[in-house]
Amino acid sequence: MRLITATLIVALLPALAGAQSLDTSETETEVVREMRNEIGSQAGFEAWLTDFRPRALAAGITADTLDVALTGLTFDEKIVTRDRNQNEFTKTIWDYLDTAVSADRVALGKKAMKKHAALIDRIETEYGVDKQAFIAIWGLESAYGSYRGDISTIGALATLAYDGRRAAFFEAQLIAALKILQNGDVTPEAMRGSWAGAMGHTQFMPTSWWDFAVDFDGDGKKNIWGDDPADGLASAANYLRHWGWTKGALWGLEVRLPEGFDYDQTTERVKKPVAEWAAMGVVPMAGGVLPDHGLASVLLPGGHRGAAFLIFSNFQVIERYNTADAYVVAVGQLGAELMGGPPIKADWPRDLRALTLDERLDLQRRLTAAGFDTKGIDGRIGPNTIAAIKAWQKANGLVPDGYASLDVLNNLP
Ligand code: CA
Repeated sequence: MRLITATLIVALLPALAGAQSLDTSETETEVVREMRNEIGSQAGFEAWLTDFRPRALAAGITADTLDVALTGLTFDEKIVTRDRNQNEFTKTIWDYLDTAVSADRVALGKKAMKKHAALIDRIETEYGVDKQAFIAIWGLESAYGSYRGDISTIGALATLAYDGRRAAFFEAQLIAALKILQNGDVTPEAMRGSWAGAMGHTQFMPTSWWDFAVDFDGDGKKNIWGDDPADGLASAANYLRHWGWTKGALWGLEVRLPEGFDYDQTTERVKKPVAEWAAMGVVPMAGGVLPDHGLASVLLPGGHRGAAFLIFSNFQVIERYNTADAYVVAVGQLGAELMGGPPIKADWPRDLRALTLDERLDLQRRLTAAGFDTKGIDGRIGPNTIAAIKAWQKANGLVPDGYASLDVLNNLP
C-alpha cells in the first residue's frame, strides 16, 4: 500500500506549495492518492480530521463546536465517486430542459406560488427581484423545497476536503459550515443538503450562506434548511439583487432568426441594442415586437438547428448561480412559464448526442493543435472553446454556431 509514496512525494514536493505535514509514514498526501486513483479509507479520513483540527481552531472554530460536529463522522466513498465522475456524464440541453422545465415542474411551481403567495410578494417587493426568478431557482434546486437533500453537510464537506481533488475549496466550505453551526443558526443534525455541500431550499454553499443568507421571518436565525421557505427564498432574492437583477426586465426570450442570418453574431460576447437585432430580422418566436431591456445577445445553446434566444443582462445575473447555459435557460424559461408564458417552440437536434468527457478533451486538444486555441484542455465547453469552434467552423466554410457536436470532432484533423 504505502511502498511508492516516499519517492513519489519527493518528486512532487515542488508542486505542493503550501501543503503541510509531508511526514507521510502514516498519512498519504492527496496528490499521491489521486495519482494512484485510490479512494480513501475511514482510517485515512480520521487521520485527516486530526490534522484538520488545529487548522479549524486557528480559523476561529471552538473546541466545543469541533467536538460536537466532527465526532463520529464517517468517510463516504460514494460522495468521492460522484465528485470524480460528475464531469463524465453530461446531458444535451434538450434532455436537461425536458426534466428541468417539465410540465410537472411548472404545475408544482404554480401550486407553490399560490400556497406562499403573500410571502413571495413581500420578498419580491423588499428585494426588487421578480418573483419568477427566485421561484424558478427554488424549483430547479430543490423542486420547491421537496428535495433539499438529507446528507450531512459537515460529513460531505469533510469527505471532499480529505479526498483532495479540490481540497482547498472544500476545506474553506467546511470551515464556513462549522462557523454556521457555531453561530447557532442550525444544529449539526439539521444541517443537511446534497452530496457536494449545497444546502437547503435554494442549495447555498456555506460561504454563500455567509455572504447572502437573510433572516426574513425575523426569528433571529437564517434558516434555509427547515420546511419554512421564507429565509431560503429571501436569501436567493438577496443573491440575485446583489448581482444586479433588473426588476421588470426579461432574462431573455425565444426568437426566430431570419434566413441567411450571420451565425458569427451568435455569442454572449456580441452585444447590440435591440433595435439592431430587430433591423437584422430577429423577431420574437411568440410574435409581436422585441422587448427592449438594454444590450442583448443572441444565444444558440443547441447549435443552429436548435432554439435561439435573445438574452439580456438578467441572463448574466442567473449565471452567478450556475454558469451552464442549460441551467440559465432553464431558470429563465421555467420562470416565464410559471408566469403563463409559452414553452420553447423550436425543435432541437435530438439526433445529436452529448460528447463524453474524453471526447470533449479530444475536441479541445485537436482545436488547439489546429491553431484554434481553447485556452485550456479541461473538458468544459465554455466561452473560449465555443469561440474556437466558431473560428474553426468559419475557416472551413461551415455554419459558425459554436456547437460542440460529434461532427465537429470527427472533422477536426
Ligand atoms: Ca429566520
